[in-house]
Amino acid sequence: MILPGQQIGVLGGGQLGMFFAEAARKMGYCVIVWDPDPKAPAALAANSFICAPFDDPDALLSFLHQTKGVTYEWENIPAALVSKIEQSVTTSPSSAILRLIQNRITQKDFLRQHHFPVVPYDALDDPSTLSKKSEALGLPCIVKTAVFGYDGQGQWHLTNMDYVLALSEQLKNNANPAGWIVEKKVDLDQELSVIVVSDNTGTVITYPVSENRHEQGVLRVSRVPANIDSDLAKQATTLAANAISALKGQGVFCVEMFLTKTGELLINEIAPRPHNSGHYTMDVCSVSQFEQQVRVVCGLPIIPPELFSPSVLINILGDEIKKLTEKEQWLQKARSIDGIRFYHYKKEVIKSGRKMGHFQIFNSDAKKAMQKADTILQFLKG
Ligand code: ADP
Ligand code: MG
Repeated sequence: MILPGQQIGVLGGGQLGMFFAEAARKMGYCVIVWDPDPKAPAALAANSFICAPFDDPDALLSFLHQTKGVTYEWENIPAALVSKIEQSVTTSPSSAILRLIQNRITQKDFLRQHHFPVVPYDALDDPSTLSKKSEALGLPCIVKTAVFGYDGQGQWHLTNMDYVLALSEQLKNNANPAGWIVEKKVDLDQELSVIVVSDNTGTVITYPVSENRHEQGVLRVSRVPANIDSDLAKQATTLAANAISALKGQGVFCVEMFLTKTGELLINEIAPRPHNSGHYTMDVCSVSQFEQQVRVVCGLPIIPPELFSPSVLINILGDEIKKLTEKEQWLQKARSIDGIRFYHYKKEVIKSGRKMGHFQIFNSDAKKAMQKADTILQFLKG
């Protein structure tokens, strides 16, 4: 067990690393963050910061020297680095799980082999086979890069054969050794997700189901509990817990799911880390997803969470953060309303669709929470 006062490390310095560092420090730990970006948000929340590329051998030595336990906050951390680290320091989730998850093809193959429901898909290593593969799956399809995609980036939605042929030509000139995956685009009724925590004794803990709305592939609104009947909630929770049990590892995970218009519940993808749709756990749960991550890293017991209130998350994307600071009065007003929290990630570079902060709204009446959330969303978009 790692005791308070000792230092634990996180690879990646985005907002998830920042919330991890805040949780760990509240629990009495010191935190070291490693990220190549000198402006990484988590650096400000940490005790120590290593700013170096992930393949820097001196940085690795220094990091190992300064940490008793390690985790990561992003699935695109090189698995080879995590594999080196775990040889001398306990690391969760393991590099084997990270490697499996960080490639969309190996992840979906794993789920399919274990009989978990997923969308029809095919691996695409040769772009000239795209038209054959998309015809076999049936249009519309989505092509995604096998590695390094996030927030809907590295994805192409194919609706007709002309576009398929054009994309196939475009991809031929695109050096991408890991290849792509082609997925059948399913008609979505709802998107759901569940945060799952597992430890090294095989205990698996689940959070309530979140209901998520995406815009252009980026999460925009997430409400908890999801507005679904209890049977479906049970089904989603069991599916998520079983998928994480099958991984046989420890860590905090998020299982993203699709509920199709025909009533099928499918696993979309698994994140090997806390998740945007689990931020509500910081405001309306007895234990947050980040505290659980600290617990797993330090070998403390993981805890079944209690949900205190319905809640809605609104992500602040790109330029919207400027609007908030420019219209200071509006922000002050929002801040003065009970049950609205504003989180600012302090990212210096603003890019379209980039997650810059979020609002977490809570109210014992879920409808009222949704109404407040709608008002905020109108303002951000207006
Ligand atoms: P990312 O890693 O960028 O989150 P996802 O595979 O989760 O990638 O895709 C982002 C979003 O795009 C999903 O949450 C969903 O809204 C939509 N999407 C992705 N794949 C499909 C699919 N096969 N059918 C329908 N919608 C999809
Ligand atoms: Mg996703």
